[in-house]
Amino acid sequence: MSMKNKLFILGPCSLESFEQISQVANILRKHDIRYMRTQLFKPRTRPESFQGLGVDGLSVLSKLRETYSLDELKFVAEVCSEEQLASIADHIQVIQIGARNMQNFELLKVIGKYFKSQDFVLLKRGFANTLEEWLASAEYLERFGVPKNKIVLCERGSRTLTSPTGVHLDLIAAMMAQKAGYKVVIDPSHGSKKRDFVLPLAKAALAMDFDGIMIECHPEPNKSVSDAAQAISLEDADQFLLTTHTSK
Ligand code: PEP
Ligand code: MN
Repeated sequence: MSMKNKLFILGPCSLESFEQISQVANILRKHDIRYMRTQLFKPRTRPESFQGLGVDGLSVLSKLRETYSLDELKFVAEVCSEEQLASIADHIQVIQIGARNMQNFELLKVIGKYFKSQDFVLLKRGFANTLEEWLASAEYLERFGVPKNKIVLCERGSRTLTSPTGVHLDLIAAMMAQKAGYKVVIDPSHGSKKRDFVLPLAKAALAMDFDGIMIECHPEPNKSVSDAAQAISLEDADQFLLTTHTSK
């Protein structure tokens, strides 16, 4: 498959500000990449951690829309509840269900109700879920109104006792999910938790004929309000896209 037909999804862990996201959008435009992470609701381990801009972030998205048409840039954002989904469904083009909600069955059941003009639903694999459970969750989406060809699965690594990073990117499960008839994208950012490993794993995923990749990047990686250790710089993203996407 040509690189141009693959799904490249890049952007920060969390949408923080217009200034932050417009720098990311600029790099994506340079490389003709359409899907940008614009996460507004963040499911965080600790209650005191930044929880996302929430609906206040919608003003940032509409400001971006003044510059970027729907053809040029698509917004990818996670929802953790029906209320969150209802509040942003009309403003995003990819509905993301995160690892922590892969088995939030009541959420899975209502996605179809809001799935209208969006491009697809991105279903991440839970970090302690089996392949069968992942596929069963995709079946929930389908049964409740999301067409199978609009479901994209995302492998983001499983928790492990043996990996030095604490997470193990499970490319075998991802291949099997692809064999089950789904598009599969690989997330080497959450799948490694450390920026040094992100681009080598991304290149491996592309070489393995997966349908795409999702990568966290940030204008000032160490200042990212969430997942700073795995954020790559925009300079590194730029270089990576030049060699893997734009010149291919
Ligand atoms: C994310 O991709 O924004 C995210 C929170 O990842 P995960 O659900 O895989 O932890
Ligand atoms: Mn993250």
